[in-house]
Amino acid sequence: MERKVPYKTYLTEQELPRQWYNVRADMKTDHRPILHPGTLKPVTPADMTPIFCEKLVGQELNAADRFIDIPEVVRDFYKMYRPSPLVRAYCLEKALDTPAKIYYKYEGGNTSGSHKLNSAIAQAYYAKEQGLKGVTTETGAGQWGTALSMACGYFGLDLKVFMVKGSAEQKPYRKAVMETYDASVIPSPSDTTEVGRRMLAEFPGTSGSLGTAISEAVEKATTTEGYRYVLGSVLNQVLLHQSIIGLETKAALEKLDEYPDILIGCAGGGSNLGGLMAPFMADKLTGKQAPHFIAVEPASCPSLTRGRFAYDFCDTGKVTPLAKMYTLGCGFIPAPNHAGGLRYHGMSPILSQLYHDGFLDEARSVTQTKVFEAAKLFAKVEGTLPAPESAHAIRVAIDEAIRCKEAGEAKTIVFGLTGTGYFDMAAYMSYHDGSMTDYIPTDEDLAQGFSYIPKLPGIQE
Ligand SMILES: *Cc1c(COP(=O)(O)O)cnc(C)c1O
Repeated sequence: MERKVPYKTYLTEQELPRQWYNVRADMKTDHRPILHPGTLKPVTPADMTPIFCEKLVGQELNAADRFIDIPEVVRDFYKMYRPSPLVRAYCLEKALDTPAKIYYKYEGGNTSGSHKLNSAIAQAYYAKEQGLKGVTTETGAGQWGTALSMACGYFGLDLKVFMVKGSAEQKPYRKAVMETYDASVIPSPSDTTEVGRRMLAEFPGTSGSLGTAISEAVEKATTTEGYRYVLGSVLNQVLLHQSIIGLETKAALEKLDEYPDILIGCAGGGSNLGGLMAPFMADKLTGKQAPHFIAVEPASCPSLTRGRFAYDFCDTGKVTPLAKMYTLGCGFIPAPNHAGGLRYHGMSPILSQLYHDGFLDEARSVTQTKVFEAAKLFAKVEGTLPAPESAHAIRVAIDEAIRCKEAGEAKTIVFGLTGTGYFDMAAYMSYHDGSMTDYIPTDEDLAQGFSYIPKLPGIQE
């Protein structure tokens, strides 16, 4: 049978976007300013440049420019693995017997295995351009550290990755990939920083946490000549770089004469969803189209569905600035979950504001076993093994397609398939042997997390 729409739609190299899109320029209400943790005043570029690269600080604070040029060197790097394919999920549609049309944008085709490389290469470029010797970062599950290793390796920039100790021990292959690109991987807590030494003295044998790893990476960057700190999600600059996903998706859909009725993405810190959604959000903000946006998060870490919209610290150690965002409290420790990339207490300030204002229409939380049920079906019928994070979006895409079947509606559903599952086979094993559990925090658990949100009279309301 001949298909009207090909299985895969690629843009040509020439059609690869030349500019990123900054959704902030079109937002009706900008997110509230990021506050300095000491003075509680909006952060200035001077506050930020000792920690972050100069050009990236400029992008972080830029609410005016709608489009920002992608440097030619970054665009050339993109050409090695982009444009990424937009795939029509014919086999999934058939398996579900749905009249809905399902498309997914696949970001798992590069060696690091996820969309994070889109921002890593940009951040490494600006660090190199500034003449820095190197950068530091933290990694939990390992995707960001891997992506950044590739980017820094490309520019010959030194990289120190503080990897949560438990994760480093569980995922030795991640470490091996990072070392292939010449990154130094330091299990956190480590004896190379003051914070790390303090943690080791206080909690000998600890398996570490993302909060501690962030504090170590920031300390290392600010106390080492020629180094800065970089971060792979949550920040405005990261959403800006990830807009490449949405811009390509929109251009490919235009070729097919399609437009999404429903657009779905998983949300950890919000960067892939923010990027996928960006140009479609532009249409919504300017009244041209009204796609329905859905953010999907784990039931074990429900920042949008059950969190508070408040000023909170971005890390557990309270060394970072405060952002007004949906948060479970900076001291909230989510229950272990195999979607490591979605275990963050807060949410991007941009996405938080869009959700608060009703432009990001809906957030849904899903349990782990339901997610893996969807992942397995998807792997079987579409042939691609998804990352556990990505499978959150698959779960809701399937649920929506089934709803279309019941209602007899041929809606167009587009979702982001952010990564490959090859590094997550322990998670699949736990699903197969029945040891996977579904932990949903109680209201009391959440109340305990909320108690970490700072009171800040006069600022918090
Ligand atoms: C990190 C990660 C996510 C979640 O991060 P966002 O910033 O919310 O996009 C999702 N999927 C994969 C594969 C990841 O590595």
